[in-house]
Amino acid sequence: MSFAKLGLEPALLRAVEALGYSEPTPIQHRAIPVVLAGRDLLGSAQTGTGKTAAFGLPLLQRLGRPAPGPRALVLEPTRELAGQVESALRALARFTGLRTGLVHGGVGYGRQNETLRRGVDVLVATPGRLLDHMERGTCRLDRLTHVVLDEADRMLDMGFLPDVKAILQQCPQPRQTLLFSATLPPAIVRLIRWAMHEPQTVQIGHHRTPAETVTHRLYPVAEAQKEALLLALLERLDHDSAIVFCRTKQGADRLAALLRAHAHAVAVLHADRSQVERERALAGFRSGRYDVLVATDIASRGLDIPEVSHVINFDVPLHPEDYVHRIGRTGRASNRGDALTLMTAGDVRHVRAIEGFIKQSIPISRLEGFDYRYTALFEAVAQPQRGRTRWNRGARGGRIRGGYSYAPGRR
Ligand code: AMP
Repeated sequence: MSFAKLGLEPALLRAVEALGYSEPTPIQHRAIPVVLAGRDLLGSAQTGTGKTAAFGLPLLQRLGRPAPGPRALVLEPTRELAGQVESALRALARFTGLRTGLVHGGVGYGRQNETLRRGVDVLVATPGRLLDHMERGTCRLDRLTHVVLDEADRMLDMGFLPDVKAILQQCPQPRQTLLFSATLPPAIVRLIRWAMHEPQTVQIGHHRTPAETVTHRLYPVAEAQKEALLLALLERLDHDSAIVFCRTKQGADRLAALLRAHAHAVAVLHADRSQVERERALAGFRSGRYDVLVATDIASRGLDIPEVSHVINFDVPLHPEDYVHRIGRTGRASNRGDALTLMTAGDVRHVRAIEGFIKQSIPISRLEGFDYRYTALFEAVAQPQRGRTRWNRGARGGRIRGGYSYAPGRR
């Protein structure tokens, strides 16, 4: 199957060729005809599947020639994703004359005002900043004919749903609405019912299931030894590139400083970093200048970071969905990947929730040669019938499922 057979016009086929895409990916194959036909589309596919071109190509075709706008709006949950999607759309629109624009928080208004004043056909935006522009009168949506809600479940996780609804209320009808979401929690189902018209569903891959090429491991450790274990793991792993996930920005900064002090080339990505710093961090990580990226969950989804050999959860994610999003950074495109999760006694409940969510038990590992100070943790997991040990206190219903790569009781 070629792109030409999907009914795309020459200017878009030229762009596809210039980008070196020889044939459509499965989601492109299935979504492009639906969008070209003007139908609403509900897509569940993760980033890395060619999702952007799957909606971008037919959208650009439907827009046709440049005209006063914006006529298409693409909402993204993070600045990074917005930037990435806008530059992908710009590349696809290259031979069409259609103009793309980008609007997101964390930077000044000057350039964005100028872009909006000059006019764009496709506007890629994060919800908060777009609302600011709408309130200031620098952006109007009354010419919109197409809306894309990308990573809708992520917008929900990040608390953007009220903003998204406020924006949608100002988007005229009739319009074509496309929504992408890896999971469908009830709030998103309600949004779909409210904002979309008889959407056609295109699902690529399984809901919720992490890449099957990923090996999962839990590393029980006492809170006081977490940092030492991370350093030992990084030293021992044969990693090309690793992302270390933390729960908080402060935690990420602290950990980055520690890793730098141990001669790792580290980039940091979290919401408090300026736009320039985040772009520099990502570019450096992509180019291989940094071998470790320390990130909070804002970076766990959607970013096109190629060939991450290891994802390390320094902190267990509080929401099971975040585990799936985090490890989505490894094992992509059928490369093998490793997902390692450090787990303290207080994390057991969250780990159980993750195992339930991914319908898979995560085996427990012990790093050989590491000087574990509290082996009671392992014994408690291995021998739950002893009952109220420190380890499984607070954890309901028996032991963590899964195999053990060590002999219980041996140090
Ligand atoms: P996305 O899921 O949109 O973030 O795309 C993931 C990556 O796949 C991006 O680097 C795209 O440039 C690339 N890509 C998208 N479509 C194709 C295609 N048909 N053939 C090869 N690469 C593609």
